[in-house]
Amino acid sequence: MRKHKIAAIGGDGIGPEVISAGLDVLDACAKRDGGFALEVTHFDWGSDYYKKHGVMMPDGGADKLRSFDAIYFGAVGAPDIPDHVTLWGLRLAICQPLDQYANVRPTRILPGITSPLRHVTGPELDWVIVRENSEGEYAGVGGRVHKGLPEEVATDVAMFTRPGVIRIIRYAFELARSRPRKLLTVVTKSNAQRHGMVMWDDIAAEVAREFPDVTWDKMLVDAMTMRMTLRPQTLDTIVATNLHADILSDLAAALAGSLGIAPTANLNPERKTPSMFEPIHGSAFDITGKGIANPVGSFWTAVMMLEHLGENAAAARLMKAVERVTADPSLHTPDLGGNATTKQVTEAVMRAVEAENE
Ligand code: NAD
Ligand code: MN
Repeated sequence: MRKHKIAAIGGDGIGPEVISAGLDVLDACAKRDGGFALEVTHFDWGSDYYKKHGVMMPDGGADKLRSFDAIYFGAVGAPDIPDHVTLWGLRLAICQPLDQYANVRPTRILPGITSPLRHVTGPELDWVIVRENSEGEYAGVGGRVHKGLPEEVATDVAMFTRPGVIRIIRYAFELARSRPRKLLTVVTKSNAQRHGMVMWDDIAAEVAREFPDVTWDKMLVDAMTMRMTLRPQTLDTIVATNLHADILSDLAAALAGSLGIAPTANLNPERKTPSMFEPIHGSAFDITGKGIANPVGSFWTAVMMLEHLGENAAAARLMKAVERVTADPSLHTPDLGGNATTKQVTEAVMRAVEAENE
């Protein structure tokens, strides 16, 4: 029996609700498969922990995660703590020391889900966004001086390093090569940001020579929002900076029907450290505790985690089960215009996993 050690961090708001649903579904996947088991350890880190201890996670928290095979993460963010404290104190405090430099966000329209784009029915939108996950405005370089005074100055330096850009562009080319269309779009803002973004463009052209079988093009990020909206079928794999891809992937999630569906993997592709899997959405405190959070993002995230663990049969079975359930509008949560609960969707997916015979 294969055993995988999972660290579960529900975090804040609906995070623990969707992670608990995801773990139930993963348990059903392991039982149905019969060849592996998940050994789950829970960590109560997040905003409640912060209110008690003054930190989002204990000292050396990221190091405690090193011995796991994967991390399954909910969301962070509380209405009464500044967002930069929760983000830097937990999510980035895990991603950065564990060098999870490739953030991978598949986007497509699942069966039964309607895109807000009236000309898009499904097959026209099938993307993977690769977000650089360690540099740019998130490198932590910058500061604020003369706070509150008329001469106040604040900076967030978008820092890029050659090795940091090479590794993410190369990862994106490899991913593009593994997909049927072998198509990559490199997004920058090299007209205005004339240092770091021009280096991105230069490195993209250099790395492209290693991948003559991949067709690639460049887009400025503002024009990219138009292309995603008006010509989604012209895109496949997309790579962009930490900040640009953060924004583009929320747009992508909305175009694919709901933020509540979209998954993410924070990968260390060399597998020197554990990777972290999380739904894209935040803690959604407007719906916390109501039992109506859409758990599909957390399930699709679980599919990515199973693939990473090498459990490809279980991953495929879970994805099919999720698609069977999204195809039924009576099992749509309110964000999709339905009135199903988290629990109803979760139980339906568990039943579908048990019934999948592939
Ligand atoms: P959000 O993703 O939490 O919510 C945006 C909107 O989408 C809300 O109306 C919410 O109800 C809805 N929504 C999100 N996920 C849903 C789901 N699974 N089912 C149904 N509806 C869903 O973003 P926000 O409102 O901008 O931020 C709330 C908090 O989350 C903030 O503190 C923010 O910093 C944090 N945040 C955290 C992460 C993360 O942990 N990775 C990501 C984004 C935002
Ligand atoms: Mn985001």
